[in-house]
Amino acid sequence: MPPDSCQADRLQKVLKGLEAEAAKQQAAIINAKEPEDSVQTSSDSKQSQEDREFVRSGNFIYVDNGAFSLVWSRIIFFGALQALHLYALCHLMVNGSLTNIKTALFGYVLFVWSALSVTAGSHRLWSHKSYQARWPLRLFLMLGHCVAGQSTLYNWCRDHRVHHKFSETDADPHNSLRGFFYAHVGWLLTKSHPEFVAQTKIIYSDDLWKDPIVYYQHHNYGQLCFIFGFVLPLFIPAFAWGETLWTSFLFAVCVRYVTCLHNTWFVNSAAHMFGERPYNKKIEPRQNPAVSFGALGEGYHNYHHTYTWDYATSESGVGSLNFTKLFIDCASKLGLAYDCKQVKLRKN
Ligand SMILES: [Zn+2]
Ligand SMILES: [Zn+2]
Repeated sequence: MPPDSCQADRLQKVLKGLEAEAAKQQAAIINAKEPEDSVQTSSDSKQSQEDREFVRSGNFIYVDNGAFSLVWSRIIFFGALQALHLYALCHLMVNGSLTNIKTALFGYVLFVWSALSVTAGSHRLWSHKSYQARWPLRLFLMLGHCVAGQSTLYNWCRDHRVHHKFSETDADPHNSLRGFFYAHVGWLLTKSHPEFVAQTKIIYSDDLWKDPIVYYQHHNYGQLCFIFGFVLPLFIPAFAWGETLWTSFLFAVCVRYVTCLHNTWFVNSAAHMFGERPYNKKIEPRQNPAVSFGALGEGYHNYHHTYTWDYATSESGVGSLNFTKLFIDCASKLGLAYDCKQVKLRKN
């Protein structure tokens, strides 16, 4: 059934109201001091409380923007990618090796670059500001983020801040209470919940625009992603060591991209469902070493959701598969990273 037009009008007005409220609050923040915590929301005025209640409870949500309304273009896109990924792995198992080991190494280097750009870049640097980076490192991470193909830095960080503030609620983009599949990839295959959409308009994220590298990437994302995530990975093996375009496409584009996606998604699914909770038992995120192995150190999620400003996202480093911490430490030694924040825990 189509949504009631009055409800649609009311929702439009509510969203406009929330946007205006966010703009007012952001202006107040800009005129005041830097916020202590980069995640800020507006004060809960009576009107905005009522507006949020409307967004949260209306039939409109479940008729027109239902949390499980399928987005077929994404289902086809990710379905095709996954099929190619499985085909490539079967090809690898049957033949025993690639036509050229250089292609495998090239794909692996791209995987590490793109994964690090998510973990050390969009996550620890831009979302949480757990350390600072000079422009060459920020440029390196921004280009790697285009290889990773996980939306623009601005959108990624804004949504991640909403995830932290509203974990395991309707406003959490990949709410793990809806099940493993939804938290892993289902959230990308369905329409976003209106409560999440409303919060993306309120959450403080203007600080991200102050970085010209983030601004440039956001406004040129399509071209950058196409060149660094598709064209270069496809043609470099062909021109440099004579790889066929098909093998290059399978391994340096599809397998590399899908592997990086799953390793990131496991942080939202497995690390929110399986593992110990030694730092805060009242929250769902868990310590999951297996996720850390694939996600270069991002699996210590109970620690991370408890101490979001820690650049290591865990108590330990390389010995605990925290390759991202090693990368930031090396960048720090080279003078490219600085002001690395870390929690000092008292041992009893
Ligand atoms: Zn985080
Ligand atoms: Zn999380």
